[in-house]
Amino acid sequence: MIDQIYSYREMCDIENVQTLQRGMNFRMNPRYSVILMSRRSNAPYVDKILEDSITIEYEGHDEPKTSREIDPKTLDQPAKTKNGTLTQNGKFVEAIEGFKKNSNAEPVRVYEKILPGVWSLKGVFDLVDYRIKHDGKRNVYVFLLKLSDKQDIETNTHIDLAHTRLISSEIKKEVWKRDGGKCVICGSTKNLHFDHDLPFSKGGTSLTAKNIRLLCAKCNIAKSDKIE
Ligand SMILES: [Zn+2]
Repeated sequence: MIDQIYSYREMCDIENVQTLQRGMNFRMNPRYSVILMSRRSNAPYVDKILEDSITIEYEGHDEPKTSREIDPKTLDQPAKTKNGTLTQNGKFVEAIEGFKKNSNAEPVRVYEKILPGVWSLKGVFDLVDYRIKHDGKRNVYVFLLKLSDKQDIETNTHIDLAHTRLISSEIKKEVWKRDGGKCVICGSTKNLHFDHDLPFSKGGTSLTAKNIRLLCAKCNIAKSDKIE
C-alpha cells in the first residue's frame, strides 16, 4: 500500500471537495469512489486490513440518527432510505453485483485516519465482494476491497501538493507530533498544511523535520504574501 500521509485539508484538496465528512462516498468523483477508514480504538465502525496487507474489510454504515430514543447501533444497516433510494451501503452492493456479472470492479480510493487531522492514503482498491454479518445485535455489511493493479487514477491533485508529497510519511508524523497538531503561529487546528520553512524555489528541502512545520491556511497565505 502507498501509505502517504496527508493533513485533512490536503486530503480534501486532492479530492477537490470543501469537506469530507462521510466515510462512504460512492462515485464522489465520476471515475471512482472514496472511503475513509479507521482502526483507532474509538472508531465508530470496525475496519480491518487483513494479514495479506492487500485486503481491507470495511464495515457498512448505520442508519442516520433521527431520534434520541433509537440508537442506530441497534438497527440493521440499511440498503435503502425511507424514500426507497439506495444508501451508500446499497450503492456499494449494487456495484459489487455488477462486478460479479462481469463489469469492472469499482475503484475506491482508501484513506485511513492515523491521528486526529492526519490521514494516510492507502491507495486504489477494487470493490470485489461483501457479506452481511450478524454482530450479536443486528446485521451489518462487511465490504471487501483488494489492492488494485491500477493505482494511477487521475485525481484533481493540486499543484501545491507536489511539494508536500515529497515529505516522507515518517517526517510528517514527527512534525505533527512535535507541533501538537496545531498551527505553529496561531494555534489553529483547522485547515492545516505541512509547510516548508523555506520554499523550494528558495532552496528549501524536505529532508528533515527541522524545516517543516504545521501552518493553517490563513497563516500560510500571510506567509506567502511576505515572500512574494
Ligand atoms: Zn495559523
